[in-house]
Amino acid sequence: MKIYNTLTRNVEEFKPHEKNIVKMYTCGPTVYHFAHIGNLRTYIFEDILEKTLNYLGYQVKRVMNITDVGHLTSDSDSGEDKMLKGAKREKKSVLEIAQYYTEEFKKDTASLNIKWPEIVSNATDNIDEYIKIITKLIEKGYAYQSGGNIYFDTTKLEDYYKLTNHKIDEMVIGARDGVEKDDAKRNQADFVLWFTKSKFDSQELKWDSPWGVGYPGWHIECSGISMKYLGEYLDIHCGGVDNIFPHHTNEIAQSEAFLGHKWCNYWVHGEHLNDETGKMSKSKGEFLTISLLKEKGYDPLAYRFMCLNTSYRKVLVFSYEALDNANKAYQKLKNKIKQLKDTKNIEQTKFDFYDNQFKQYISDDLNTSNAITLLYDVLKSDCNEATKLALVDAWDQVLSLNLINRTNNMAVDAKFIEEQIQIRNEAKKQKNYERADQIRNELEQMGIILKDTKEGTTYEQKTS
Ligand code: AMP
Ligand code: ZN
Repeated sequence: MKIYNTLTRNVEEFKPHEKNIVKMYTCGPTVYHFAHIGNLRTYIFEDILEKTLNYLGYQVKRVMNITDVGHLTSDSDSGEDKMLKGAKREKKSVLEIAQYYTEEFKKDTASLNIKWPEIVSNATDNIDEYIKIITKLIEKGYAYQSGGNIYFDTTKLEDYYKLTNHKIDEMVIGARDGVEKDDAKRNQADFVLWFTKSKFDSQELKWDSPWGVGYPGWHIECSGISMKYLGEYLDIHCGGVDNIFPHHTNEIAQSEAFLGHKWCNYWVHGEHLNDETGKMSKSKGEFLTISLLKEKGYDPLAYRFMCLNTSYRKVLVFSYEALDNANKAYQKLKNKIKQLKDTKNIEQTKFDFYDNQFKQYISDDLNTSNAITLLYDVLKSDCNEATKLALVDAWDQVLSLNLINRTNNMAVDAKFIEEQIQIRNEAKKQKNYERADQIRNELEQMGIILKDTKEGTTYEQKTS
């Protein structure tokens, strides 16, 4: 597979450290508010990357953090903690805010068919890990205490800026929005690893540390969580382009200073979704969320379809007109697929021919728009209906657009239904009625209607 690596500024052949196993870390949400659909574009691209790797035969170990402390309103260590801001806005505790918006984020990702990563860990659950790293950084002379905080000394590294294209003087104080002068720093590019003092001293969550009661900086969270779960050698680290500096630059600095060797080989970044006025915002203009799109009658997967038609490395500008067009094309595509009924006698040679082509496109720096064009080509081709259906079904493992309406196209696997009924019974036993209802609804969407009788649960398949 070829992928664009921000670190080398090249599209490169991907080679993991261990054959067939990929260790992947993706920066998670700051759960102080709903995710906007721009944030979700980044998670869609990461989902495509993970599923592409799976489709090509790799086993992916993926970790994501949930930022519930330490991300300040400016990415450069100044301003108020975003979580605290959210708590004040809603007159709730930081913990309540974190739990609520984590759940909302989960729902959004589910609506977009984004797979929940294998390991998801809260920043607040890994404090010991950060303390361990910071202690060693101080011992090794990379970090220092000043004005109550612990800072990383960026001048100790020759290649601190290796991930960014920016020149050093563009990065320092005054040149970037929201960067305030901090007199406690030795160099203005230094960043905070541990806060005990901030202008906003009303931080709700604090922990004891060798340097006093305080809280971790945002960047150390991702280094700590990644190394805890994935070890010293990481294959891929992802995020949106805004994460390149300072967040990922600082992650590299502190992780490599701590480890004493290179940490991660591939840094992969998704471009932004902008609105027509420019940068997408949670506070100004229309707050574009998945719930808003649903309220307006859009299928969230039409938004996923819209994203997949543009390279993840190109800026995408959101407009309702663009979404309407994507929605129409998406519904039309699904309807075309719905006409296909036959599921027998797949033409293996044709299947392999098109499937190889698909693999080439997705392994060409995740060219999902070519993959979708290929889907249209297959539908127009002389393949029989069974072959077309089998190809759509296989490719939807990556595209995740619910392209196959199982009711019309193929009988839903009886074993799968029985398993779901068992899981639902178990959920009911545990009094987890929400989960039980969710399973009922999911099956209903596939045309399977459950009936609870005295003898147990039975089902019927709806025919259209
Ligand atoms: P946050 O919750 O602010 O930490 O951001 C979550 C993710 O969304 C990060 O990976 C950001 O890089 C990404 N992100 C922020 N704004 C946008 C945007 N407008 N378009 C795409 N991704 C974004
Ligand atoms: Zn991160």
